[in-house]
Amino acid sequence: MDDSDRTFLDLAVEQARLGWEEGGIPIGAALVHSGEVLAVGRNRRVQLGSAIRHGETDCIENAGRLPASVYRRSVLYTTLSPCFMCAGTAVLYDIPRIVVGENRTFQASEDWLRSRGVQVDVVDDPACVALMERMIAERPQLWAEDIGEES
Ligand SMILES: [Zn+2]
Repeated sequence: MDDSDRTFLDLAVEQARLGWEEGGIPIGAALVHSGEVLAVGRNRRVQLGSAIRHGETDCIENAGRLPASVYRRSVLYTTLSPCFMCAGTAVLYDIPRIVVGENRTFQASEDWLRSRGVQVDVVDDPACVALMERMIAERPQLWAEDIGEES
């Protein structure tokens, strides 16, 4: 984790905060290629009535269609450890590195990602943990729905 990682993770955190203010789930992401931000995104399941707009998938969708060669040299920044849907999207496009804000409140796919050759760097950022803890305390049903659990 260097200074530019911090800068790009902060873009994801900003998205997470925006999502919370919109009444959604506070998870954000950024996709970066060679130091250039291709897109940012945030979990918008609530805002869009979507089943699949997690922070990472929203970000990748916002980036639009990209050549395989671009994904293969990009880094995905996300405030929370990816679920299997988002991890699967990253593996599909051969995104080689994911920087994760935190994995204390949720962790599912990291071993699988690493087994597929993805470099997963967990920052353990207190701001990311705080966003998730507040959401789990204040909107527990929304969170259960987001990760496919019955509440
Ligand atoms: Zn996800």
